[in-house]
Amino acid sequence: MRTKIVAGNWKMNKNFSEADDLLTEILDSIDEKGKPEDVDVVICPPFVYLEMASDMAEDSPVFIGSQNVSQFESGAYTGEISAAMLRSMHVDFAIIGHSERRKYFGETDEMLLGKAKAALKNDVLPIFCCGELLPEREAGKHFDIVKAQLENTIFNLDPDDFNRTIIAYEPVWAIGTGVNATPEQAQEMHFFIRELIWNKFGAEIANDKTILYGGSCTSKNAKELFSMPDVDGGLIGGASLTTSEFVKIIDAAKE
Ligand code: PEP
Repeated sequence: MRTKIVAGNWKMNKNFSEADDLLTEILDSIDEKGKPEDVDVVICPPFVYLEMASDMAEDSPVFIGSQNVSQFESGAYTGEISAAMLRSMHVDFAIIGHSERRKYFGETDEMLLGKAKAALKNDVLPIFCCGELLPEREAGKHFDIVKAQLENTIFNLDPDDFNRTIIAYEPVWAIGTGVNATPEQAQEMHFFIRELIWNKFGAEIANDKTILYGGSCTSKNAKELFSMPDVDGGLIGGASLTTSEFVKIIDAAKE
């Protein structure tokens, strides 16, 4: 069974009390309105708020995720956060390979595969990002780029581990720009990704794979994007920082 997911990536936003307020509002709103049964909700605040967030969400249907994870297990890696640390704080998901991590922090495919392996070993489920730059799309290379990003990383996991990953297709030109991929563009790429999975891991794993769309997804375009047959929810940046927006996007993912 394919799980629908709406995940909020807060990026490097909010001070401690603002983060507390935002999460309180989101949890209260979900508590009042109820969460669509068929949609899982994940909130990914900055690392320093994970403990607070996982305590606050403990008795709620909301999952907590991190925005990154170290590929190393433990030891002399100053500034890093391990998957075991995340697991010990009841963090269930980790965003891996976000384009901002690739661009500003030099994360390579090899590092990203290491991060996915470390996360899975500790039962932290990767939300693995892929997506092309604008010039790559303009040159018609977007399918090749996404194929390579997946083949160089999580396609090297064994099938049981791969089965526990979530993929987020995030065209880089759509992230934080206000220009979302059209539902047709998203569907075309999601279908392509599912076909790649089918060829590599077989029909069952391909059919069950949750593939999220990310990139300027808002309450205005979420319903249309999520109604595409191969779009199983979204990874939401900017719009996850406003409770009313985020809650509408969660609603848009229900059947
Ligand atoms: C993201 O950062 O993953 C993202 C999709 O951002 P935004 O929704 O702001 O485009």
